[in-house]
Amino acid sequence: MKCTEFLSMLDEVIDESFAAETRERIERHIHKCGHCEVVVNTTKQTIQIFQCHEIVEFPTSLRDRLHQNIMDRCAQVKRSTS
Ligand SMILES: [Zn+2]
Repeated sequence: MKCTEFLSMLDEVIDESFAAETRERIERHIHKCGHCEVVVNTTKQTIQIFQCHEIVEFPTSLRDRLHQNIMDRCAQVKRSTS
């Protein structure tokens, strides 16, 4: 398997949706090709980060307002206790 062939199958590699007989060829290529191994690992990590972010990511404006709200409350607490 060549890198171009491997990379053209990257989606399937990430999803592990390739055919069973293809797995051996993919694993053999990753084993001897550090470049493609890095590509797979990096892509998987990026997808994981993206998936995590999707759950906790606020729209910027909402996050700013939330942040401002927290800062205001902190300022109020400081004022009332001192
Ligand atoms: Zn390769």
